[in-house]
Amino acid sequence: MTEECIFCRIASGELNTEFVAQNEHAVAFDDIAPAAPTHILVVPKQHISSLRELDDPIVAASLLGLAQQVAAERGLHDCGYRVVTNDGEGAGQTVFHLHFHVMGGRRLGPMA
Ligand code: 5GP
Ligand code: ZN
Repeated sequence: MTEECIFCRIASGELNTEFVAQNEHAVAFDDIAPAAPTHILVVPKQHISSLRELDDPIVAASLLGLAQQVAAERGLHDCGYRVVTNDGEGAGQTVFHLHFHVMGGRRLGPMA
């Protein structure tokens, strides 16, 4: 846990954030500034700064599995959904704790 990392504080439960779902290695919670009707963040419980640092296949599967689960539970299969991670400032990463955006609930525009 990195003390000044907001997603470490959320994932540890310190901030009493309501989790949409969780498993052994990952938690899911609503984005504070949703870019789509459903916009959930899936983050590892351990601090990993971005995708380039992800080297544990168990954690990788847990993250993707949780993204898949919350998309199904939120009913995103009908409209379709998008899973995105920004790696590095140049890609728009602003929180340097790995997270996958799960977005859906309306027709989504082009990727970039
Ligand atoms: P990035 O730009 O790093 O890919 O995405 C960071 C995301 O985290 C943004 O969509 C932003 O709205 C969200 N975010 C930043 N701080 C918080 C927070 O304290 N709580 C929640 N729930 N989301 C946050
Ligand atoms: Zn962190």
